[in-house]
Amino acid sequence: MSIQIEKKNDEKITKNFLQESISSVIGKQGEEIIKFLDTEKYINEFIIAKKLDININQTRNLLYRLSEHGLVSSTRKKDKKKGWYTYFWRLEALRTLEFLKEMLKKRISQIEHQIQSREVKTFYVCERCNIEYNEENALLHDFTCSECGNVFIVKDNTKVIKEFRKNLDKSQKELEIINNEIRKEKEKDDKKKVKEIKKEVKEKLKKRLEKKKERDKLKAKEMKQAKKVPKKAIVKKPQKKKETRNVKSRKKIKVKTKKIQKKKKRR
Ligand SMILES: [Zn+2]
Repeated sequence: MSIQIEKKNDEKITKNFLQESISSVIGKQGEEIIKFLDTEKYINEFIIAKKLDININQTRNLLYRLSEHGLVSSTRKKDKKKGWYTYFWRLEALRTLEFLKEMLKKRISQIEHQIQSREVKTFYVCERCNIEYNEENALLHDFTCSECGNVFIVKDNTKVIKEFRKNLDKSQKELEIINNEIRKEKEKDDKKKVKEIKKEVKEKLKKRLEKKKERDKLKAKEMKQAKKVPKKAIVKKPQKKKETRNVKSRKKIKVKTKKIQKKKKRR
């Protein structure tokens, strides 16, 4: 039970991150589109348009903007009757999380920069108007507010720095969670890849086995034929030779008998 709750929480965290990432590119419509864009199945763009309640060109425009950052990917199918292509879209979870991570890293470095600046530089403020000036601008204004004529006082940065540090802390924690989500997403991808490779290897082996069976069959056939052929060849040729020998020897016998007969006649 607790594992299930944990899993549901994980899914919610991931979904929130994905939505934040998508919304950073296409704005408020990201909240809607994330509800039905899938990370596994490709979804027909006409269905997306219908669900977003906007026309197909507006839908494609949103999706192209997302695909420019690699946050979605597509496949297309040709309509054989009408001859045009319909696109099907899928959310690329890993890339979308990585996109958010890049944004967050930028934000963190900005906050760090601001903290450093507050710690090193002096800022001035008109307490009455609550307008802040950095050192250069304060000097330009002769340390006097151009709105009310009040003299600036040095700003106490401790409160501001504290606020920045709070933001920094929050962002760093978020980064940690995103890194964790990215790691999980990569594991999922790896598992998918291993599955695909296993399937490929299995198919290759199957094909190889089929080819081997065919070759064996062919070999067996050839062997059968080879056994038949030599018999005829061996039997036929010597028979001819024997015949000629027989004829020759018969001729010789004939000659011999004739000679003997002649001799007999002489006697
Ligand atoms: Zn003022």
